[in-house]
Amino acid sequence: MGNLKNKEIIFKKITYLKGVGKKLAKYLSGKKIEKINDLLWDLPYSSTDRSLLTKTNNLIPGTISSIKVEVLKYSFPRIRNLPNKVLCQDDKGKIEIVFFNSRENYIKAVLPLKKWVLISGKVSSYNKKYQIANPEYISSPDKTDFVLKNIPKYSLTDGLNEKSYRKIVDQVINNLPELDEWHPHEVIKKFKFSTWKDSIINIHEPENINNKDNKFLKRLAFDEICSNMIVMSKNRTKIKKNKKEKKYFKNELSNKVIKNFKFNLTKDQVNVINEINVDLASNKKMFRILQGDVGSGKTVVSIITSANVIDSGFQAAIMAPTDILAKQHYNLAINLFNNTHVKVEYLSGKTETKIKNEILKKLKDGKIDLLIGTHSLFQKKISFKKLGYIIIDEQHKFGVKQRMMFAEKGGLNCDVLLMSATPIPRTMVLTIYGDMDVSKILQKPNKRKSILTYSKPENKIDEIINIIKNNIKLNNQVFWVCPLIKESKILDFSSTISRYEWLKKKFPNEVSIMHGKLTKDEKNKILNNFLEKKVKILVSTTVIEVGIDFPNANLIIIENANKFGLAQLHQLRGRVGRGNEQGICILLFKKNLSKNSINRIKILKKSNDGFFIAEEDMKMRGFGDMVGFQQSGEKYFKLADPIRDIELFNYAENYIKNLKENDFKKYDYLLKLFDKAEIIYTED
Ligand code: ADP
Ligand code: MG
Repeated sequence: MGNLKNKEIIFKKITYLKGVGKKLAKYLSGKKIEKINDLLWDLPYSSTDRSLLTKTNNLIPGTISSIKVEVLKYSFPRIRNLPNKVLCQDDKGKIEIVFFNSRENYIKAVLPLKKWVLISGKVSSYNKKYQIANPEYISSPDKTDFVLKNIPKYSLTDGLNEKSYRKIVDQVINNLPELDEWHPHEVIKKFKFSTWKDSIINIHEPENINNKDNKFLKRLAFDEICSNMIVMSKNRTKIKKNKKEKKYFKNELSNKVIKNFKFNLTKDQVNVINEINVDLASNKKMFRILQGDVGSGKTVVSIITSANVIDSGFQAAIMAPTDILAKQHYNLAINLFNNTHVKVEYLSGKTETKIKNEILKKLKDGKIDLLIGTHSLFQKKISFKKLGYIIIDEQHKFGVKQRMMFAEKGGLNCDVLLMSATPIPRTMVLTIYGDMDVSKILQKPNKRKSILTYSKPENKIDEIINIIKNNIKLNNQVFWVCPLIKESKILDFSSTISRYEWLKKKFPNEVSIMHGKLTKDEKNKILNNFLEKKVKILVSTTVIEVGIDFPNANLIIIENANKFGLAQLHQLRGRVGRGNEQGICILLFKKNLSKNSINRIKILKKSNDGFFIAEEDMKMRGFGDMVGFQQSGEKYFKLADPIRDIELFNYAENYIKNLKENDFKKYDYLLKLFDKAEIIYTED
């Protein structure tokens, strides 16, 4: 492979490496390794000590041993299921090397007759004789440096074996480029960091595997934290640098809208509306995230602020993740813009072509002021006459890259508001939303009562039947949530389907079922039926969307609640109690709860505050499991861990804040190393 020392080579495709062809590249892509730098962050999880070199008379079954032997004789039985064997010897005796599923040609190639080889593998005994079956290493006897040591163990996919993978990793690690230090001397000194290169080499060493506090990993984690914050900061600066057309509005229209709303706005809603208004009226593009727990009333905020945008002569668009949610926003908007000149339209993937074309034309002609639809709709080209405001609901399903796309959408004059019901722990806001301004609604609408949360062991499930009966009598609707759709023999998940059957016997004609295997249309139909109160009980996996308002659903039962994380349980229960009735959540558990589960129930019973719960959730389960981030399919950090490395996060936050734009240049290479370079905002 030669000169990886050229520092750009590390960004080449993995096939650039010696010995990596198309086939191996395909296996590597199973580990999400496409480019050479991807290899760096794939750390060993354990190690195998192969340093024990023994003679054939000293073998101990069960141990990993290495032997130097001469190949004596093949035995290829050519009968199905019988393994091929090769007899080998050293000066102390003989041993059989046994191959399951290896072809003769391969065996002859790696173990040529009369040749001496170095073999490493696990010793076993069969028919009172020792053997090594499917050895991991067969090398020439002089490869002792490569084989006879404590060897890092990487997770492997089909087609990859330890030896071939290590050869690839070694090739890279042994040829890393020398890089100029990007961090200032004080930082390096403060944390006693090693150089980048030394750190990479060392995190792949077996002795560091179990020590996540080692300074090598810490250095690279700090690199990653910085790269993340720098990208956010750069994007933010870039978005703000462009001058946009200010929006001039009087509050007449928005006041009408507020009047049409049958409730008083909460103090937080008013504050957020003011924050947004200031942004709209400024000459800097707004790129803002509105965080607010489920049911905190974000949609109204988005519609009221749209009124100001429309008043200033621009169009606005609201995108929701699903048809039903979009439709719900649409209905609210129609109500709120009642008795005004504002034209609101709804566009969905299912809108008839003829009507759709009419809407598209009207949009272009500026005859529609507010368009409401699904995200997917807006992925395609829709031209507005003068789009000035995009609102994206439930944004947590998107990663940073998509967010940048949204920021670019609509062009310079378009302000952007994202809304998310996934509370981010305070300590993580800059890391996750550092490119945006953040608004929060902490307070729930006044009349809304906190959801009462109870827990019950599963053997008391019959008591719940009575509770459901009472609720149905009061005309309330009920959610019953199960974790998985099919009975899993290995894991003790209860099944949505069998629960559905069970409930149907008790409540004929009142139950419907929803799960992830249904098509979008089927799901929509079921949800609509539920919304229209055609059924009283909806049994479902977690697919019921976060944002939909079922004002009539006041009881939710969550089965196997210990399989869900804290934040997820909180989001699930947020689906009830959105009307004026008291919402009730019953967590059903198997007996013998772990300490952790008991703790989770306590927190849920005690608090209805999504931000507090998010904080606790992260402490208990780690950042990677936080709601929303597994959904976006994006692993947020390769090395850093917001809990373990909290000190580094806090330090980086201040440090990056104080960097000047010029200082950022030094980090360009670092951003590329962590694949962050491509998520820089590019609207120029
Ligand atoms: P979110 O999108 O934040 O989950 P929504 O905007 O869907 O919340 O609001 C949830 C419910 O609360 C809706 O039925 C909405 O009409 C109602 N609501 C919103 N704001 C208020 C308020 N200030 N007072 C009373 N009810 C409100
Ligand atoms: Mg919502």
